[in-house]
Amino acid sequence: MELFTSTTAWFDDEHQLFAEVVKRFFADQLAPRIDDFVEQGVVDRDFWLAAGEAGLMGGSVPEQYGGSGGGRGFDAVVLYEQGQIGDSSWGYGIQSIVIHYILKYGTDEQRSNWLPQLVSGDVIGALAMSEPGCGTDVQSIKTTAIKDGNQYRVSGSKMFITNGGSADLVVLATKTDSAERAKGVSLILVDTRETEGFRRGKNLAKLGLHGNDTAELFFDNAKVPLTNLLGAEEGQGFYQLMRQLPWERLLIAITALGAMDLALEQTLDYVKARRAFDQRIMDFQNTRFKLAEMKTKTEILRSFVNDCISRLEDDRLSAERASMAKYWGSETQNEVMNECLQLYGGYGYMMEYPIARLYADARVQMIYGGTNEIMKELIARSIDD
Ligand SMILES: Cc1cc2nc3c(=O)[nH]c(=O)nc-3n(C[C@H](O)[C@H](O)[C@H](O)COP(=O)(O)OP(=O)(O)OC[C@H]3O[C@@H](n4cnc5c(N)ncnc54)[C@H](O)[C@@H]3O)c2cc1C
Repeated sequence: MELFTSTTAWFDDEHQLFAEVVKRFFADQLAPRIDDFVEQGVVDRDFWLAAGEAGLMGGSVPEQYGGSGGGRGFDAVVLYEQGQIGDSSWGYGIQSIVIHYILKYGTDEQRSNWLPQLVSGDVIGALAMSEPGCGTDVQSIKTTAIKDGNQYRVSGSKMFITNGGSADLVVLATKTDSAERAKGVSLILVDTRETEGFRRGKNLAKLGLHGNDTAELFFDNAKVPLTNLLGAEEGQGFYQLMRQLPWERLLIAITALGAMDLALEQTLDYVKARRAFDQRIMDFQNTRFKLAEMKTKTEILRSFVNDCISRLEDDRLSAERASMAKYWGSETQNEVMNECLQLYGGYGYMMEYPIARLYADARVQMIYGGTNEIMKELIARSIDD
């Protein structure tokens, strides 16, 4: 399956060539290692470097920073192909998000310093908003960054951080003014390799996404230079987050689509091969109807996602549309994984069948990037004005 369709506006010959490179790279370098990553709970650094070398992470980064100067359609291609090969370990989605924070809000120095290293895979990025006491209500975070001479003193902890076990660069949501809610939030770039007072917790044991090193991060009076503030002034963090969240939400829908295409392809092979009552499982009307329903939902998602990517490329993707893609994409993904698993019977519950992992990995898509309840709230607000 392909992410694009012949009527897709944003997808041109360059995306086509890029998609072929990405597909080949994943088939050669990722597919054979997925089980190892899952087993060890982290993606090896040499894989990040190989992905950088192959040009996977620079598609939407200007050439002056080591990228190839395209739009986010190139990132969409990578994320879709990653979903379609059945990998949920490599935290490229977050890497892309971090890249776009720095591209959009970074100073010249921050861009020149960080972007080439993020594109090459020398630096692994993380975005840390959630805390043990608060996830959805970002305005009430407790991590503080207090000015002290030419430094911030950062204190607090962050919970559930994707790539947290290995991240070299953390885009950290802090309060530079605890008396304020949204207006008190500032984003700070933390170089974990040289920050005294920074510590990681161990990898968190999760229901799915076993190959990603999701971790808790601790800051104990950690010293960070004032020049690491993202953006020109303090207090802009919440607005920066809100403006970048549509990409985080759309990319969840893109990976959902890739995983749904894979699940359908594999389930189809299975029900054609497996027999009961002297016929193929495929021949039962229930199977045919279930597959027809799932195929229809997948194609509808593909059209919507492609429309959202076109809008994003033209800077027209609204927060509510991105929320619709995230909410409906992740919910449909979970329905499809559930129905596909059922068609495998008992084998679907066995971890040696990829559908079991796809099922477990799908669940969190309805939670992170803003829960689906919050997506519905945002959509509702847009129609109640
Ligand atoms: C595997 C994984 C990876 C993650 N990666 C990251 C990451 O890289 N960076 C990061 O910052 N965070 C990350 N998160 C955190 C994730 O974004 C949060 O878990 C999510 O935003 C929900 O926050 P919470 O868990 O604190 O739930 P809570 O905010 O406590 O919500 C609990 C329940 O209440 C509901 N609820 C809350 N407020 C409302 C409301 N106003 N209206 C209706 N219902 C409401 C929620 O929808 C949810 O069902 C990750 C989480 C997981 C599980």
